[in-house]
Amino acid sequence: MQSPDAKETVKGVTIGGFLQLLAVFTFLVLSQISLVFAPSSGVEIIRNSGVSKEVEHSAAIAVENVKAFFMDKYNVQLRRNIRIILTSDTDGYIQAQMKEHRISGEEAIRRGRTSSASSQGSVIILNAGHPRLASSPSLIATIAHEVVHQFQDQLTNGKMSGLEWLTEGMAGIIAVQLTEDWGGKSLASYKKYCLQEIGAAAALPGLAELRTSKQWRASLDKYGASVTYRIAEVAVLELQSSTGWDAFVLYYQLVNQAADKGLVFERNFGVTLDNFEHQFTEKLMTGK
Ligand SMILES: [Zn+2]
Repeated sequence: MQSPDAKETVKGVTIGGFLQLLAVFTFLVLSQISLVFAPSSGVEIIRNSGVSKEVEHSAAIAVENVKAFFMDKYNVQLRRNIRIILTSDTDGYIQAQMKEHRISGEEAIRRGRTSSASSQGSVIILNAGHPRLASSPSLIATIAHEVVHQFQDQLTNGKMSGLEWLTEGMAGIIAVQLTEDWGGKSLASYKKYCLQEIGAAAALPGLAELRTSKQWRASLDKYGASVTYRIAEVAVLELQSSTGWDAFVLYYQLVNQAADKGLVFERNFGVTLDNFEHQFTEKLMTGK
């Protein structure tokens, strides 16, 4: 982020200059903290016009629950400042995507069509007017899903693993698990719902077809968002039921430091990636 010029300036400062800089920095940090909305320092929730206070409240609940999940179980703290922008409709969602995520109009329209929330860098944008988010549990689950992505991104130092189905499935299932206390489905009934959605689909992608973000986007268009996400979630449920979440957290911590990413998967989940994807897809297709 820092330009080469900025780095040069720091090299040349005197002690007096340094103290001045420190004072300015402290002031900036303190003034930032006072501006930040309540859930905790480091997370700012911005409510665009037309978005209710209830939506803002749901966002705060989601943030707190995901933070507690990673902190209590894994001692992982959210170290970055994140912003959550709540928009009231698809138009506002698309506009915010273009402005904050600096993507083309075409890509923003695609996201507006296939998603109700997105996370990029340290900014989460939500389309609170999406019909799928009409109930409070689904709002909380959707925002929690995006906050899990922030943790995944942090665990990998900003270099996501590239295993899209694992990333999306993990975010989805943790979000469901955390929303149960807020009126959401239990994991068991959520799994049932996923299998129904998958069973009702005309065609299914194989799990190995959902590895890269490019493949993932292609599946959203070809097979539909619902079936694509549900397959990833059921696959993660399957892995999680044998390893717990520990293996996932460790996987994300290790995957980008390892030369052989496949080996990190195998060590953490006790099965090779190819075998798991193949067996899972086989089971899903024949169970149909
Ligand atoms: Zn996601």
